[in-house]
Amino acid sequence: MVSAPSIVWRDSPDYEEARIGRVFNNRRPDRYPRGVIQPTTAEGVADAVKLANQLGLRVSIRSGGHSWAAWSVRDDALLIDLADLKLLELNEASGTLKASPSTTGRVLNEYLGTKGKMFAEGGFLLQGGMGWNCKNWGWACEKVQAVEVVTADGEIILCSKDQNSDLFWAARGAGPGFPAIVTAFHLEVRDSFSNVMKSTFIWPLEKYKTIMDWTMDDDAVASLKIANETHPPGAIMISMCEPSSLSVEYEAQALANPEGHRYTSDNAYISNDTDAAEVLREAFTTLPEGTKTFALWYSMNPCSRRKLPDMALSMQSDHYFALYTVWEDEKDDERCTSWVKKVMGHVEQHSVGAYLGDSDFQVRRTKFWEDTKAEKLMQLRQKWDPRGTVCGYLDQGDKSGVNGLENKHEWSI
Ligand SMILES: Cc1cc2nc3c(=O)[nH]c(=O)nc-3n(C[C@H](O)[C@H](O)[C@H](O)COP(=O)(O)OP(=O)(O)OC[C@H]3O[C@@H](n4cnc5c(N)ncnc54)[C@H](O)[C@@H]3O)c2cc1C
Repeated sequence: MVSAPSIVWRDSPDYEEARIGRVFNNRRPDRYPRGVIQPTTAEGVADAVKLANQLGLRVSIRSGGHSWAAWSVRDDALLIDLADLKLLELNEASGTLKASPSTTGRVLNEYLGTKGKMFAEGGFLLQGGMGWNCKNWGWACEKVQAVEVVTADGEIILCSKDQNSDLFWAARGAGPGFPAIVTAFHLEVRDSFSNVMKSTFIWPLEKYKTIMDWTMDDDAVASLKIANETHPPGAIMISMCEPSSLSVEYEAQALANPEGHRYTSDNAYISNDTDAAEVLREAFTTLPEGTKTFALWYSMNPCSRRKLPDMALSMQSDHYFALYTVWEDEKDDERCTSWVKKVMGHVEQHSVGAYLGDSDFQVRRTKFWEDTKAEKLMQLRQKWDPRGTVCGYLDQGDKSGVNGLENKHEWSI
């Protein structure tokens, strides 16, 4: 059983660090868990859940601390921080990696690289995982073979296609509404490769439509070679076939998403039958000045054109679009958040839904799954956690509880 001293309670001097020290977004939430605990084993997680049940508390979970909306920080809950639960073990014979959920993609791939292997990313698997080369290799969660979990009753179980298969189905797409706590992922890894290259082109803003139309053309994105050979003239900067590697790309990602900054993100799957470049014009051409904000369009085709395996994850289109609004000073909070709201209010009218990973349900709710999958997922939430022990989707006022999200567009404008 958990000993009370291992919990950092709200009146402890270490509380503030335990509450938000590992939250990536510097825009700190105004929410206060009752206490924080950092178990080192699955048994420790199970004990923490049993204690929370005895005390009548919900549990919230933190793995990497990277959710933009700080979903792990919940009022009056017992926050189970998995930072110290560490597991990273490759079975070379079967090609299966066991990894604890707080392992970042970078650490995971550094380890695998020493064994000539790689995985298309890490701790975001519950919501699908848009990893390296997602459009061709598919969702990272498709490579999850099993998950070890602690249930809302504090029981330790394995979920796979043969055991507790309904919870395994939910573990691939439920995101922060998964009604249990994952303590280990069993992942299928792939062979690594050494020949990585990238090309970069920068054009002046007035070329926006020409460039977006060219980029969205399937022939142009088919490969870097074609991009290099067919790109429109007038680029301010061109860098073609620069040698790269996973570690160089992780470095670039860290520069684009610096620590110690304030963030808000939103995203949409733009419907296939719309002029996506035109729909996204405002987003790409009016980024708030003096900030490090960026907009991203990502082709999901051909992944988006294939029938997905049967799992909760079910929302996709050819065009993934996301806004990452990045700034440093609290005085810019209102300017940045209202810009995102304005842009998304227009974009969402041309969208089919959104990806959980870059969403904040306190700000904007939409469709995150196909309707039948959403219905099944919400029923599974009620089956596996009928009392709502595990904090689920953080909507406005944290009210969604065991019912989960409604899975419908709620237009902002
Ligand atoms: C810099 C940066 C880059 C990103 N890049 C990508 C990207 O390339 N592709 C992509 O798809 N997403 C990306 N994201 C989004 C990110 O994957 C999601 O925000 C994801 O939720 C982060 O996982 P985490 O474990 O760090 O989250 P945390 O903040 O630790 O947890 C968020 C919530 O997830 C649930 N959860 C976490 N761990 C568990 C668990 N073990 N068991 C049950 N529930 C759990 C809980 O509800 C928890 O509150 C990025 C985010 C950041 C900040």
